[in-house]
Amino acid sequence: MGKKILLHVCCGPCSTSSIERLIAEDYEPVLFFSDSNIFPEEEFMKRYSNLLIVAEHYGLQVILDDWDHGKWLEAVRGHERDKEHGERCSLCFRFNLERTAEKAAELGIDEFATTLTVSRFKNSARIFHEGEDLPGFQKIDFKKKDGFSRSIVLSKELGLYRQDYCGCEFSLRDRRCADS
Ligand code: SF4
Repeated sequence: MGKKILLHVCCGPCSTSSIERLIAEDYEPVLFFSDSNIFPEEEFMKRYSNLLIVAEHYGLQVILDDWDHGKWLEAVRGHERDKEHGERCSLCFRFNLERTAEKAAELGIDEFATTLTVSRFKNSARIFHEGEDLPGFQKIDFKKKDGFSRSIVLSKELGLYRQDYCGCEFSLRDRRCADS
């Protein structure tokens, strides 16, 4: 295995093609599930359990962060009514990236990246903007090299659960409104 990199993972499906790419590029990813934005806690644990399937498949270590949803709500206060892709999402990216930077420093891992860039619904430039001043942040755009399509193929192969909302209660509310 190659150089260690702490990989912030938003969910199992997005981790698949990101891990495959990092291994192909000679990295040894350590997976960090730090997603206090996810609501409710049962959903957080469901997505984490899903990641364990991926970690076992690739033989990788997973670190589970606390579900610190109260702190996350404080970080996005005043933006509860924002639409998805608005300022709340930038604050959310920042929250998770800061925690990942802190964990990387604690573990003595020089580099970190995030699977958030896999999604075709998320703007990678915005994610990079939120992380670029954090020590060790690697601007890896995992949706490049067909990363999003590849994540769908791999998720199907591994039988992963694919959630139908981004993560927080506000995205759940908006999805329910769209359905009704
Ligand atoms: S919609 Fe997604 S990215 Fe935006 S704040 Fe909610 S969980 Fe975070």
